[in-house]
Amino acid sequence: MAENAPWTYDPSNIFARILRGEIPNKTVLDSAHTLAFHDIVPQAPVHVLVIPKGAYVDFAHFAAVATAEEIADFHRTCAKVCETVGLNADGFRVIANAGAHGHQEVPHYHLHILGGRPLGPMLVRA
Ligand code: 5GP
Repeated sequence: MAENAPWTYDPSNIFARILRGEIPNKTVLDSAHTLAFHDIVPQAPVHVLVIPKGAYVDFAHFAAVATAEEIADFHRTCAKVCETVGLNADGFRVIANAGAHGHQEVPHYHLHILGGRPLGPMLVRA
């Protein structure tokens, strides 16, 4: 991994612990650089989290610092998850939360893949 600043990765976060095998997960796919597993509190009938195996805090960190191989593997694994869990026919939503406004709770980059029912509008207007 190249230059890390301005990001500081906390290796005690829950997804780092899952990657180290300290906490069990329900794996959907496991590739060279990426792990996909079911969310513990699903927000839809299908709710899969996709995480890079590298130590990236958020979307911007991953985009800036990950290798092309990691980035390709991550996105191809996301697409393969949709195929594997049968979301392609009816559609799905992919979400990346970041920072305080994005309400990111776990400081290891991840995408949420949601589907299995009509998900409604993306956001409720405030
Ligand atoms: P964020 O708010 O950071 O975008 O989403 C974090 C997600 O991680 C939440 O949907 C939450 O349910 C999920 N999560 C938190 N802890 C665990 C865990 O130990 N196992 C799994 N599978 N998901 C978790």
